Amino acid sequence: MLQPITTKNSGLPMRKPHFVKRLRKDFQLSIMTLMGIFGVLGIAPYAIYRLSSGDMVVGIADSAIVCSTVLAVVYAWRTGDTIKPGIVLCMVFASAATLIAIKLGVNGLFWIYPLILFNFFMVSPGKALVATTLVLLTLATYGKTHPGQVFESDYQMTSFLVTAMMASILSFVFAYRTRSQRDQLQQLAIQDPLTGARNRRAMNEELKIAAATHRRHGNIYSVLVMDLDHFKTINDTYGHQAGDQVLMDFVELIKSSSRKEDRLFRFGGEEFLLLLHNTDQTGLQAAADQLQRKVREHLIGPGGPVTMSVGGAVYHPTEHWEETLRRADQRLYRAKSSGRNCIVISDPEERQNSLSLV
Ligand code: GH3
Ligand code: MG
Ligand code: MG
Repeated sequence: MLQPITTKNSGLPMRKPHFVKRLRKDFQLSIMTLMGIFGVLGIAPYAIYRLSSGDMVVGIADSAIVCSTVLAVVYAWRTGDTIKPGIVLCMVFASAATLIAIKLGVNGLFWIYPLILFNFFMVSPGKALVATTLVLLTLATYGKTHPGQVFESDYQMTSFLVTAMMASILSFVFAYRTRSQRDQLQQLAIQDPLTGARNRRAMNEELKIAAATHRRHGNIYSVLVMDLDHFKTINDTYGHQAGDQVLMDFVELIKSSSRKEDRLFRFGGEEFLLLLHNTDQTGLQAAADQLQRKVREHLIGPGGPVTMSVGGAVYHPTEHWEETLRRADQRLYRAKSSGRNCIVISDPEERQNSLSLV
């Protein structure tokens, strides 16, 4: 049944510094951090130079970019939220770059190109395209109404707008494609290819998150470990494909019979875990009863109805999430040795007793 995940060689998980792990895992955070470094190292010297030479508007715009970048990076690291600071940065950068281009003319226009790329890294492709279009429209309108101030000629303005639009559209196509490929990859990384249920990696992550949410907000959660009875016989009698079909039907049945917020994971051949949010002992028993009845009545294999054995446990705040899993798994063993096709839920007093025996 449940085997702990370990690395190949030592049997112990490899330890990497926490910030390196976060940078590797969170693309948006790593880009925002990179932008933070660019912002401070690349723009801060300009801000100091402009302020000291009395060019207050550009100096303040540069300083706003530097300060907002630092604040956004700090916020993203502290909260893990990169969406809100990304939008704020996109707005600050777009306004500041527009202001700088208006003030400095052609010399300021160069900044619009990295701004275009930055927007597409920071926010969704649609939002980035809107932000870039607004910047270009503002510059075009200002340029037309103030001849000679932003652009030296109409020809220069047209060249700038055409090249900037080309850069935006190419960035949009690239960002859109990258984003959809990343979403697909993320989906594949957490999904069991046969049944479409979430895989064991996703299970570990979500159980960790559920335990952390419980500690922070007190939301109670429970788990059910489900194992099909005599599944090997189906394979041996009717072939592997027939077994696969039963697994797919099982997942479909459990998904359609559980609540939308419940999460189903396949963590072994014919072993599944259902994570139930906001579910106490009574709720867990009711859910297990209902699911077991559904399976008994509706899961029909090539040789007739298929049953399952179920073990369950409610997460206890003083334990590690792996302990909850272990308790549910032990109850599943009990259900199997009691003759299968039954449910055993870990009861809180039993847990208390087993703790006091240790
Ligand atoms: P029990 O009632 O004790 O759970 O018996 P069982 O036969 O269900 O369990 P056992 O652990 O003996 O056998 C599980 C079988 O599941 C063995 C393995 O070949 C089969 N299996 C594992 N993964 C897959 C899969 O992806 N597809 C198919 N068709 N079979 C699988
Ligand atoms: Mg089985
Ligand atoms: Mg099994």
